[in-house]
Amino acid sequence: MRIGLFNGGRLGVVHDGVVLDVSDFITAFDVQGRLFEIIRRGIVVDDESLVAVPAIALEDVRWEAPLPRPGKIIGAPANYYEHIDEMPDSATILDWGFFLKSPTSVIGPDETIRLPYSDKRTDYEGELAVVIGRGGRNIPLDEALEHVYGYTCVLDITVRSSEDRSTRKSFDTFTPIGPWIVTADELTRPGDLRLRLDVNGESKQDSTTSKLIYGVPELIAYASSVVTLEPGDVIATGTPAGVGPLADGDVVTLDIESVGSLRATVSARDAIRYEDRPGPATALHRAAAR
Ligand code: MN
Repeated sequence: MRIGLFNGGRLGVVHDGVVLDVSDFITAFDVQGRLFEIIRRGIVVDDESLVAVPAIALEDVRWEAPLPRPGKIIGAPANYYEHIDEMPDSATILDWGFFLKSPTSVIGPDETIRLPYSDKRTDYEGELAVVIGRGGRNIPLDEALEHVYGYTCVLDITVRSSEDRSTRKSFDTFTPIGPWIVTADELTRPGDLRLRLDVNGESKQDSTTSKLIYGVPELIAYASSVVTLEPGDVIATGTPAGVGPLADGDVVTLDIESVGSLRATVSARDAIRYEDRPGPATALHRAAAR
């Protein structure tokens, strides 16, 4: 099942080339909570129940982030064997562990990534995202996939500066996600998917999730050895080789086999000089006056 939010929080299932509006299946919850409630209950809508549901043509559907405010976004640094070669040091996820991104960094498909700094590089990172269904702590490796509700596409946008990862990756708009969630029953081999990203139609990343260092089961087992995973938590599994900078006006498209295609645009309209960011100027001035 492909399920997502569209046209102002409507709940839709892609079925035979149209989108079926199943919003009324889940009426007891607010608009933003609808898909979350589906995930929490582990519902997969079966085809027979979709007979009398309004159908909307795909071209009339504007997809939104399927999880507008996940409880947690867990990120995997240096988790592809080939991406390690282009990183400044050769440490991997085995050394770094995971990081957290702010839930407020999420945007939906076709929304705009806003570059914060005019003089610091901001990179795209195309990644397979795991959506947790059943939560848990200390989830065993061989049970990990049973805790997955589904998969979606995510862009883990990152400023290349010296701050902690949680700072560099948490700017508003830095986590485009969507267009929908493909449920785990339809995607049983998350470790064997082609992942491609292009910028303005030019290929930048072309790899496969078979090159992940920590695969989906390891990420779930490891993360849940630290934090309690909850329904709707998102794990961004890491990015393969080919990361590079974004510029004003760019169009980024991530395609993941059997999952979908996620597009985002880029704007530098609100970018400031790095040295003008709030904090350092006044802090240094105060230090000098002591
Ligand atoms: Mn990443």
